Amino acid sequence: MGTTPYDWLDRSLVALHRAHRYREVQAIDGMAGATVQRQGQTLVNFASNDYLGLASDPRLAAAAIAAIETYGTGSTGSRLLSGHRELHRELERAIAALKGTDDAIVFSSGYLANLGAIAALVGTPDLVLGDEYNHSSLKAGGKVSGAAMLDYRHGDIADLKKLLEAHRDRHRRCLITTDSVFSMDGDLCPLPEILNLADTYDAMVLVDEAHGTGVFGPRGAGAVEHLGCASRPLVAVGTLSKALGSLGGYVAGSQPLINFLRNRASGWIYTTGLSPADTAAALAAVQIVQHEPQRRAALWNHVKQVMEQLDLILTKAKAPHLMQRLPSESPIICLEMPSAAAVVAASEQLQRMGLWVAAVRPPTVPTSRLRITLMATHQQVHLDQLLAGLQRVFDEL
Ligand SMILES: *Cc1c(COP(=O)(O)O)cnc(C)c1O
Repeated sequence: MGTTPYDWLDRSLVALHRAHRYREVQAIDGMAGATVQRQGQTLVNFASNDYLGLASDPRLAAAAIAAIETYGTGSTGSRLLSGHRELHRELERAIAALKGTDDAIVFSSGYLANLGAIAALVGTPDLVLGDEYNHSSLKAGGKVSGAAMLDYRHGDIADLKKLLEAHRDRHRRCLITTDSVFSMDGDLCPLPEILNLADTYDAMVLVDEAHGTGVFGPRGAGAVEHLGCASRPLVAVGTLSKALGSLGGYVAGSQPLINFLRNRASGWIYTTGLSPADTAAALAAVQIVQHEPQRRAALWNHVKQVMEQLDLILTKAKAPHLMQRLPSESPIICLEMPSAAAVVAASEQLQRMGLWVAAVRPPTVPTSRLRITLMATHQQVHLDQLLAGLQRVFDEL
């Protein structure tokens, strides 16, 4: 009965609505930050990845404005043609210094950094082994590369070893991919064990520090530093758009790795260089990460406090099975609920109380959950408001 080749779109949308999986963008008015204005309502923001509050830091804005005035708005071409500025190299050197690597290469986004790096490092004769909860961009990179792809169970070293044992020999190169901090769960990957296995089975390791950089480690270098693996050879990917408050992505690693990517990563060669404003803002952010450890300290105090108090609330809850805190070691704190409809209702209830907490549902994650992200710039009243709001949600479950 379909009269056009596009009729299936309407049917798909109806199915999404019915499954409570339909999503829409919501505009915030004005500045990002610990509190935001949305449609006339002030909301305490527990939904952003702006862990250090740098997206609204005047120093980043000033650096971006100065870069626009010096270089203009667009970089005008790919880095290998007209799109390269000395500013890009300054940022790449600053990222390498933060990470303690030889060098780094900056991409237009973290998504593209994963796509570009993975597709350059492996091809059809090769094998990619990835954690089943890996970010979409790691999975997409594996697909684009044409390599054979297998998922190992989340954080399961024994399962990874089994797959290496069974499949490694049949492939030329092998790449193990993992988030360092899992973006929708908040737990960490067992990186030292992964690196040991990689040594044994002659495999490369790509670790995605999107939620680690600026947040973890005594120097803010990331979860790799926190887990004591900064001196091990690996491919460290990350984003400039989370704790660093700008836009863009990067790969940090050895000189041969970075030189190779400059020659072989299509996602870097065939796309326009990062804009001067984004580049300058990210550079300012890297410097702040290095010079203001008190931001990280404030963030971790918030994490400790919210986790402890949440667990207290949960142990006293009348129906504990209706909400469970997922294991987390990061500012990403998730509360699992039985259905997509339940998390949407909880998120809406919190919103009426002036709290912005995201409802994350399948297919993004296997089980529905409220996802709370904390910021260094949250005030004590914000945390109190969150805990009181969650208490009410539990009481009314
Ligand atoms: C956000 C994210 C990305 C993508 O980074 P962008 O710069 O936003 O494209 C990649 N990996 C993980 C784990 C992420 O959370």
